[in-house]
Amino acid sequence: MRTDQSSAQAGMTRRSFLMATGALVGGGLAGSWLTGRAYSTQTSAPVPNLQAGVQAPPLTTTTQSGLRIHAIQTGFVAVKRNHRAYSGPDRLALPAIAVDRQWTEWMPIYAWAIEHPEGVIVIDTGESSQAMDPAYFECTPADRFVYTSFLRFAVTKEDEIGMQLRTLGILPQDVRWVIQTHLHSDHAGGIHHFPHSEFLIGSADYPVSQGALPCRYPDWLEPTLMRFEDGPIHAFDRSHTVTQDESIAIVPTPGHSLTHQSVLLRDGDAVYFFAGDASFDTNQIQNDIIPGICIDRPTARDTSARLRTFFAAQPTVYLPSHDPDSGRRLVERVTVAG
Ligand SMILES: [Zn+2]
Repeated sequence: MRTDQSSAQAGMTRRSFLMATGALVGGGLAGSWLTGRAYSTQTSAPVPNLQAGVQAPPLTTTTQSGLRIHAIQTGFVAVKRNHRAYSGPDRLALPAIAVDRQWTEWMPIYAWAIEHPEGVIVIDTGESSQAMDPAYFECTPADRFVYTSFLRFAVTKEDEIGMQLRTLGILPQDVRWVIQTHLHSDHAGGIHHFPHSEFLIGSADYPVSQGALPCRYPDWLEPTLMRFEDGPIHAFDRSHTVTQDESIAIVPTPGHSLTHQSVLLRDGDAVYFFAGDASFDTNQIQNDIIPGICIDRPTARDTSARLRTFFAAQPTVYLPSHDPDSGRRLVERVTVAG
């Protein structure tokens, strides 16, 4: 087992954008925020160049207990630097993002699949290629504004999770559970690929939450909302055990969204921790850096503190959705240095 305490990226939460915009709207600031001037500031920002081809083949590893885990990159996203990492006053986080002209590099949009004897488990469903069309975000004016002004996507049809799973020999009917860390577009854009699965979703994130696109949910979606009745796991007070063998559980990691959740896979002396947007990278957790937009920044800090405690107590392969190093850490079983 290897350890790695570098993983660097000056990271920030991008979905937090959505949250922040919602907060602004709620706070009566929408008028000034949604001005043409703010919009033109964003659209005039330079568009980053892709550093690689849009499609990346899935990365696969086999755990000590024999489970296969696939890292499925469903395209790329870029956000403002103040979205990925922001250290100023909480109340100025959103304005700081609004005026920021600097974009991050392209970051991966990871979803995950675990081949478990009780059924395939998919964690997040990635982005849809339809995200390349601004009309895709028309659920609400705020959603469209934020998604088209503050985020950039590079997603092809071939990047979508359904097609990538088929190339791995995993068909929709093989997927027993889909666990959504939250419902922002780049995590929930592939829901429609899994009509036969049970969806496990945070109770306050469904059916409506800031940054989610409920107008894009399939008619058949009837998720199980998480209640976390299965007791503590280290620093996390509550959990939900997914599999009968108790190897896979969900814990609440709120802050980025109201009921953001993460998935743990116990494997020998280590835990694979599928963190969604709890942070952009490991460095943010270790240095108590909060992304620019969180629906609840104090709660996000509490989640970050719990993650630090967890890292200290338990060798952890930490896997945020947008960390370019997550695929390598998965394959090489690199744990966070506690
Ligand atoms: Zn998000």
